Amino acid sequence: MEEWTVEVEHCKSPKEKPKTEELEFGRIFTDHMLVIDYTEPVGWHDARIIPYQPLTIDPSAMVFHYGQSVFEGLKAYYTPDGDIQLFRPEKNLERMNRSNDRLCIPQIDESHVLKAIKQLVHMEKDWVPTAEGTSLYIRPFIISTEPFIGVAPAHHYKLIVILSPVGAYYKEGINPVKIAVENTFVRAVKGGTGEAKTGGNYASSLKAQELCAKQGFTQVLWLDGVEKKYIEEVGSMNVFFKIDGEIVTPSLNGSILEGVTRNSVIQLLKHWQLPVTEKRISMEELYQAHMDGTLEEAFGTGTAAVISPIGQLSWEGKDLHINNGKTGKVAKALYETLTGIQYGKEKDPFNWIE
Ligand code: PMP
Repeated sequence: MEEWTVEVEHCKSPKEKPKTEELEFGRIFTDHMLVIDYTEPVGWHDARIIPYQPLTIDPSAMVFHYGQSVFEGLKAYYTPDGDIQLFRPEKNLERMNRSNDRLCIPQIDESHVLKAIKQLVHMEKDWVPTAEGTSLYIRPFIISTEPFIGVAPAHHYKLIVILSPVGAYYKEGINPVKIAVENTFVRAVKGGTGEAKTGGNYASSLKAQELCAKQGFTQVLWLDGVEKKYIEEVGSMNVFFKIDGEIVTPSLNGSILEGVTRNSVIQLLKHWQLPVTEKRISMEELYQAHMDGTLEEAFGTGTAAVISPIGQLSWEGKDLHINNGKTGKVAKALYETLTGIQYGKEKDPFNWIE
């Protein structure tokens, strides 16, 4: 694909932009969207930015039946200089192609798609909210659109990118949450689709989330899908612990989603010359560390919250209170530095900003 032009059709009746206090997550969408089609044998074609609108899709489109789809999530930030910047967007497109591979969806040209996303974000720059902690959430996704109800990889797809102005995740300051260790349901197993960002993983996580919320927990801590012994992720975030001075996170084992924030946290900790290790961690080991008084911090990492400290973990009837329910020093430093870089308020020694 050498020539890459994105046709633009401007929306005729722009919507009113939300006020800061109306911003939440994912309910308001901007005036335009990016659409790129895939058909065989042409490949990806007809990249266009068009007014945000409903889609007309055949009810037999394969995505509705067998869920062949992938998605991504990243953000655009408004800086003090009035620029709009993205945080490591190429990592999201690389991950999208890994997800595509797992779901038998054709590969995208990452640099072309990134260029088109930047063009869309630039067109919608007035939609990037400016209040502290707010951002423009970018949701690229691919669905299989071929009208056919046989179980097979489709021959037609649509890549769509929609944008949503979102409010600050922490309106009242970064706050530790209560987490339940999930012993009944599992999120993923090695060989399954846990490493891919595909809708089915999220559909199958809803039941556990619903039950834990009823019991007053914010999220579940997922254990491995085979032995239910080893720690994998927390809600839809990666998870880190500080045990006896060392920061540890479960190693990528084939069922964990590789977070862009996880990768950035590891790099930042190494840059600060703090000991950070990726390894298999059992719940038993974590409990033992808690009993020994060496479990110093626990936190989740992800695009939405950046860092989400864990104040309490409930496991088999035992409550592990971590750092007296307060945000730990490492979590706080990571949060401040990462958001500082994302919002253009801190130096970016890693060239993460685009
Ligand atoms: N795990 C899961 C299951 C997720 O959905 C996400 C959010 N994409 C993450 C981890 C964190 O990934 P990232 O840091 O790229 O947002």
